[in-house]
Amino acid sequence: MTSMLRTSGCLVRRACVADVDGRPKPAEGIRLLLFVLVTSLLRDVWHSADIAKLDGGISNGMRPEGCMLDERKASMGIVEGKVAIVTGGTRGIGYTIVRELLKNGAKVALAGSRKETVDDALSKLAGEGFTDDVMGISPSLTDPDAVSEAFASVVERFGRLDVLCNNAGVSSRTPLVDYTVDEFQKVMDLNVTAVFVCTQAAARIMIEQGDGGSIINTSSMVGKYGQPSGSAYPTSKFAVNGFTLSMARELARHRIRVNAVAPGVIHTDMVDALPDSVIKPLIESIPLGRMGEPDDIANAYLFLASDMADYISGAIVPVDGLSRP
Ligand code: NAD
Repeated sequence: MTSMLRTSGCLVRRACVADVDGRPKPAEGIRLLLFVLVTSLLRDVWHSADIAKLDGGISNGMRPEGCMLDERKASMGIVEGKVAIVTGGTRGIGYTIVRELLKNGAKVALAGSRKETVDDALSKLAGEGFTDDVMGISPSLTDPDAVSEAFASVVERFGRLDVLCNNAGVSSRTPLVDYTVDEFQKVMDLNVTAVFVCTQAAARIMIEQGDGGSIINTSSMVGKYGQPSGSAYPTSKFAVNGFTLSMARELARHRIRVNAVAPGVIHTDMVDALPDSVIKPLIESIPLGRMGEPDDIANAYLFLASDMADYISGAIVPVDGLSRP
């Protein structure tokens, strides 16, 4: 409201003075003044309604019901016309990224490790009304030839490639003394080598297209703080951060932006299976008072994929409710 009054005061002054040619234009100024007053009022009312809904509370550790974010986002189509590939798009966070990209106007190829899980995800998406703008691929993500071939099939179907979401990942909880080299390597293969292979294949396509692109990697809050066991996992996410920063610098001259999203504790099936005695203290330790939802992560992806983030590269965006373990 204060800013509305300030703007209005300014316009009153402008409405009463002469235009560039020295001729007074009172009617035009007053019309402009009325327009600003009405739109500012509407914006303030809308904003207060949102705050009221959010005030509905975070007391149960979940995001408040009826948040207006979804309706507003869906009406924007902020990635309209873009073509995206999402690895690990068959379930969890990846599936939600795929669905949000589709809802907001993109064409999407989801990559999964097996054809059956990809087909299941495609059927689920069809049930939500998404059929024509989505396809599935299932290359081995550490095999450069298989990945290049699969990405080429996406370009063949949808005409181009604008966005790569490197989301596929595997976690680990093994203590140091029990690790085998194979197990450690398995985590590094999917979480790091696959990110390199997919980034290389996507960047080759984007460079040839010549009009930029957006690559988004999935890091984790443990990629900043570490974790008390399963060291391959935080090690891999530290590597993802390093790769993100380096690629951002290397690919900037092609206007390819490279960023990462670093989720905190996200409300997935795995978390739902934990007993209350584990979940409660976990939620209490999160300053924003709730776990993240998969679409909290998808929202960050959506923004970084869109042209709204056109001047953002080399960012590692924490989406963790301010968790600091
Ligand atoms: P998830 O296990 O539910 O999904 C992982 C996805 O990766 C699945 O689609 C799976 O098919 C795919 N995948 C697994 N192995 C693969 C392989 N060998 N080849 C191809 N695809 C394979 O996990 P999620 O919780 O949705 O995690 C998604 C990303 O978010 C991961 O990179 C993870 O490290 C990261 N992350 C998750 C959390 C969390 O709390 N859930 C927190 C921080 C970071």
